[in-house]
Amino acid sequence: MLKETGADCVFWNRRYDKAERDVDAGIKADLTARGLTVASRGGRLLTEPWDIRTGAGGYYKVFTPYWRALRAAYVPPDPLPRPASLSGPKVKSDSLSEWGLHPTRPDWAGGLAEAWVPGEQGAADRLAEFLDGPVSQYPDLRNRPDRESATSRLSPHLRFGEIGPAQVWRATRHGIDMGHLDESGAMTFLSEIAWREFSYVLLYHNPDLADENYNPAFRHMPWRSDRDAYDAWSEGRTGYPIVDAGMRQLWHTGFMHNRVRMIVASFLTKHLLLPWQMGEAWFWDTLVDADPASNPASWQWTAGSGADAAPYFRIFNPITQGRKFDASGDYVRRWCPELEDLPDKYLHAPWEADAATLKVAGVALGDTYPHPIIEHALARLRALDAYDTLKQRR
Ligand code: FAD
Repeated sequence: MLKETGADCVFWNRRYDKAERDVDAGIKADLTARGLTVASRGGRLLTEPWDIRTGAGGYYKVFTPYWRALRAAYVPPDPLPRPASLSGPKVKSDSLSEWGLHPTRPDWAGGLAEAWVPGEQGAADRLAEFLDGPVSQYPDLRNRPDRESATSRLSPHLRFGEIGPAQVWRATRHGIDMGHLDESGAMTFLSEIAWREFSYVLLYHNPDLADENYNPAFRHMPWRSDRDAYDAWSEGRTGYPIVDAGMRQLWHTGFMHNRVRMIVASFLTKHLLLPWQMGEAWFWDTLVDADPASNPASWQWTAGSGADAAPYFRIFNPITQGRKFDASGDYVRRWCPELEDLPDKYLHAPWEADAATLKVAGVALGDTYPHPIIEHALARLRALDAYDTLKQRR
């Protein structure tokens, strides 16, 4: 590629995962040895993970004060002018088959093309569309998995550097300053961008974030080992419709709504009492926005082992979560079509329906749709007991 472009300088945006840093350091050493000018810059994040410090000089371990400090300190830089000309490598085709790669099942590339327009222009259009309307209702609708355009869907674009958080910040702030955007809705959106930043702070200072418990007490958590339960979870066969809908959405599209990510992560770590690392690894393999910082930080947050984590004893009830956030049942009906004809009242707990209702809806529990893998009340008590063993060690 160096030959093809005739480049004598190479610049790139810094990466922060340990494996990525090692690769980049190797490339830098190799190119420098060949006499090229090489430099890495910050571009993936608003600020470098070492920039924002507490009064005591450490990094922030709690989100709210971090967010306050970031808001106060951050001023997006003015964008540089576009280079007059930049010769890039010629990509022969976007088609996988022309590269000798044949789509496997499911057709990830096809699913992606339905939901995203990859590239800088696609990312810029997505941001503009979002700021043009949905952002004003973001605080109210962002938890509704059935409302696809209620959130920005920028995560894969941010993940692959097709847009930078500084561009998102700048455009959003500009909208607020010009009076086009309601400040509270827009700032709620920017606070989510700040969660991404915070995840990078945690990753940078804890390079093993994807493997090791941030809170070392969790090393003693009596996790279970149960391959069948894990398979049922990953394949969307737990018998809890909101969990199954989320896992099937993930498998078919590579995406899952944030609220549902929290529900399925809580279900794996608390109802099934399986180690959060198993879920993190599955998400890493299947998410289109799989991110080395946000993924482990969010898993640890949900499992209770992370920085500023949800307390372990806060166990999401998948029935009430489903009823609250997918009240119309549209999301579950889309991903669990075998439950389509159940009345709304039973959609999130099909086992509560009487035999006649199930029959009319064409649902045969244990046949067309699974029985719940574990009873909620029982799972809750088991998880709390497990957590108690940690408390006793302190
Ligand atoms: P919006 O609501 O529009 O938010 C805007 C942007 O802010 C997102 O694109 C994302 O970059 C960032 N963001 C939003 N919420 C979070 C959050 N909680 N933590 C960190 N950044 C956030 N996000 C990823 O980008 N990659 C992951 O691998 C990932 N794994 C997750 C695993 C679990 C268990 C959970 C609970 C959350 C995870 N998230 C991850 C965070 C969040 O679910 C996604 O960023 C969000 O759903 C993406 O949709 P959006 O772009 O429409 O988000």
